[in-house]
Amino acid sequence: MKIFADYHTHTVYSHGKGTAEANVLAAMEKGLRRIAVSEHAGAHLFYGVRGEKLAALRREIDSLNKRYGNEIEVLMGLECNMLGGGKCDLSLPRTLWPKGFDAAPFDVLLLGFHKGIMPRDALTWRAMGEAFHLCKADPVKVANALLETADRHHIGMLSHPCEYVRADIPTLAKGAKELNILLEINASHVSLTPEELREAASFGAKFAVGSDAHTPERVGCFDAALDAAAKAGVEERITNGIF
Ligand SMILES: [Zn+2]
Ligand SMILES: [Zn+2]
Repeated sequence: MKIFADYHTHTVYSHGKGTAEANVLAAMEKGLRRIAVSEHAGAHLFYGVRGEKLAALRREIDSLNKRYGNEIEVLMGLECNMLGGGKCDLSLPRTLWPKGFDAAPFDVLLLGFHKGIMPRDALTWRAMGEAFHLCKADPVKVANALLETADRHHIGMLSHPCEYVRADIPTLAKGAKELNILLEINASHVSLTPEELREAASFGAKFAVGSDAHTPERVGCFDAALDAAAKAGVEERITNGIF
């Protein structure tokens, strides 16, 4: 199965090792036609990209499109953090964003749960506890919180579902179908087992594979994700189209 778009890559702007241009060149070499630089959003205490850095990245992406636009489309993504109470980075004050950056600068929005955030409600504190193996969060509530946050902020894809904290698969999959949100099969952290992928598919979920590359060499490397999808028999539900 040939995947032509990678919506999940990181660069030196957060904790990736390569530049945006290096990611683009690697993507072209792999035959991709579309790549997103989806940096960690600003509420991530360690890797979040904030303020003028975001504006600089937007300018860099615009210039990469001018230079390589005949061969590949470069999108500006953002990997948002679930914070609790329906909030993600996009709910936070505009001080996080550069001036004049309000006009939908992002082409692709991802949302995931990450360590390294400050939880805004009790459920997300429990989720953090689960991430550090201290307690368990209610997986149905986690799934609903992800869906509610994604819906409120027009998120296109949930990154690495069930990584760090479990989400109830039937709840997540039914909601994702209803809201037209893709579940990522993440090639760097294959966070859903073949059984979970099969179950999610049975509730109508659709998937996108993402490399979650933190080095240019990993851009467009989908093997682990595609293996899991093949084991689950859900390859036909992978849609890496425009969303
Ligand atoms: Zn992530
Ligand atoms: Zn990521």
